[in-house]
Amino acid sequence: MSMRPDWEARTGLGYDVHRLVPVDGDSDGVWLCGHLIAHTHRLDGHSDADVGLHALTDALLGTIGAGDIGTHFPPSDPQWKGAASHQFLRHAADLVRARGGIITNVDVTIIAENPKVGPHREAMIAAMSDALGIAVSRVSVKATTNERMGFAGREEGIAAMAVATIMLKVNDE
Ligand code: MG
Repeated sequence: MSMRPDWEARTGLGYDVHRLVPVDGDSDGVWLCGHLIAHTHRLDGHSDADVGLHALTDALLGTIGAGDIGTHFPPSDPQWKGAASHQFLRHAADLVRARGGIITNVDVTIIAENPKVGPHREAMIAAMSDALGIAVSRVSVKATTNERMGFAGREEGIAAMAVATIMLKVNDE
């Protein structure tokens, strides 16, 4: 009789950065973790440039070795211009489920001097919980400054890191 477990934990890591530019007709603030925060600047990118959701999408894709967000949603493809990034996250979650995976928990860290994440944490968690189809208790958002050092410290951009853990049926084929 084999003692090998039927299920294994898989972990994936994600990282993303987008540049901050003054607000204009495209957006009146910063999209972070699926939530719009009113701010003097917005994040610049082909899509809504939500660094939190991009990092988390890459983390989820990493759990099943499914490439990265650029593999699935090339920035050269005009259909993703201005796209809401929860679509990318939902796609990654669907790929995990198509493999029989169960998302255990996700954890995102935002690195920014401003805007402050604290007042928006619950809304961010609710947005990611909805996009992933998992309980809010399985979603975490944290934030830190960069102690005024480097590009994040100078408020030239915002960075995000994310980790996702899933349970997957063992399949050594
Ligand atoms: Mg990105």
